[in-house]
Amino acid sequence: VVRVRYAPSPTGTLHIGGARTALFNFLFARHTNGTFVLRVEDTDQARQVPGSEEAMIRGLKSLGILWDEGPDTPSQPYGPYRVTERMARHQELARQLLAEGKAYRCFCTPEELEAERNRRRAEGLPPRYSGRCRTLTPEASKARAEAGERWVLRLVVPEEGETIVEDIIRGTVRFENRILDDFVLMKPDFTPVYNFAVAIDDHDMAITHVIRGEEHLSNTPKQILVMKALGFDLPKFAHLPMILAPDRTKLSKRHGATSVEEYRDQGILPEALVNYLLLLGWSAPDGREIMTLDEAAQEFTLERVQHTAAIYDQKKLEWMNHEYFVRLPVERIVEAVQPFITYDTSQGPDFHAVVALSRERSFTLVQLAESMRFFYERPSTYESKGVQKHFGGHVVERLEALVERLEQLTAWDHDILLSAYDTLSGELSIKRAELIHPTRLAVTGRTVGPGLFELVALLGRDETLARLRTSAE
Ligand code: GLU
Repeated sequence: VVRVRYAPSPTGTLHIGGARTALFNFLFARHTNGTFVLRVEDTDQARQVPGSEEAMIRGLKSLGILWDEGPDTPSQPYGPYRVTERMARHQELARQLLAEGKAYRCFCTPEELEAERNRRRAEGLPPRYSGRCRTLTPEASKARAEAGERWVLRLVVPEEGETIVEDIIRGTVRFENRILDDFVLMKPDFTPVYNFAVAIDDHDMAITHVIRGEEHLSNTPKQILVMKALGFDLPKFAHLPMILAPDRTKLSKRHGATSVEEYRDQGILPEALVNYLLLLGWSAPDGREIMTLDEAAQEFTLERVQHTAAIYDQKKLEWMNHEYFVRLPVERIVEAVQPFITYDTSQGPDFHAVVALSRERSFTLVQLAESMRFFYERPSTYESKGVQKHFGGHVVERLEALVERLEQLTAWDHDILLSAYDTLSGELSIKRAELIHPTRLAVTGRTVGPGLFELVALLGRDETLARLRTSAE
């Protein structure tokens, strides 16, 4: 039975890389009827940001990425799910490796290590720990520790041979043991480093597949060596491709939003964001792009994860967002756009109807909110390119004629408005567009927007006429 985990370090907000990793774990678990575990990797106390765990949990939940076991779930068969709470176990196994001679105390000071690295560099060798303290006798090692000397625990890494990572996505990846060094397992305060804790936790939580970002691939041979030293069976590994900016550099602030909260603030729907994340390294067998999480879970396999970098594309994300504007029920868009509305919608046309009419033309909720403002506030300015094009010549007379005609209408809906415009433009021997464009500009202040007759029908007779009269003055 499949067990996977997402193991964020609570050092900030949820970023798209992390959210994508969580999503792929979640979908893989759903696809295989497995279990998805959230483990909070709070090992590096110095880098913790207060409130970060809660923010990440909120972020994941907002995307519909849900776990079966974690620090906040009722069922915790493999708990605790915060790494610092599992420390006693890491310490126990550190002592075990020490007693078995598979790990040893290293008393070298940072200055000594630095000097050694420099010496090797000068000789043209890769900077690597010599393993000097490996040869201390257990008695000497113990005596120095008892005398209060500072030490770290290092793993005995074979000097020859290689450690092989069989990766589901990347195939066979080989690492020479020589370059892996006798790496540190426990710090001087006898707390574990990430590579030690993670190997133990993955084993103890019965994780079957470690699915994580490619930046961790170089850690994997170390974790394998730890697992082997402890006699553990290895999980399967799958390293997800990097997410790069369009210029193929590392995605960063300067490419725009990168955290889930920022996308929310930009007006990207969580439904659209999570669907977009799905495409960052995965594709459906039939090429479908718009999918619910349930549909994606049906189709999701690790074999279909690409091994080349995924390129982040803001335009595509906004396109996706637009698709969801159109596809989701109007009620959902009404709810989602609410926080972006900075004007009073309690008077004026029915908000629900306004959203229904406007949603097709925006790519973000910010744009959508702005595009609906004119329904509730009279335009204070007119788009200047529209003024030049549509407010010149005979426009004042035409708008006056239009006002007169519209005042006489006995009903006010799309079809009646359409025929009134048709009749009047015929009488004036002009094209219908020559009435439509100035009307749109007068009423909305803009040159583009929803269909004019729907818009005017919704805005209402009094308000439309008032705005037309203002412009005709
Ligand atoms: N805590 C690590 C991180 O935030 C993840 C480690 C892992 O998935 O093994 O990058």
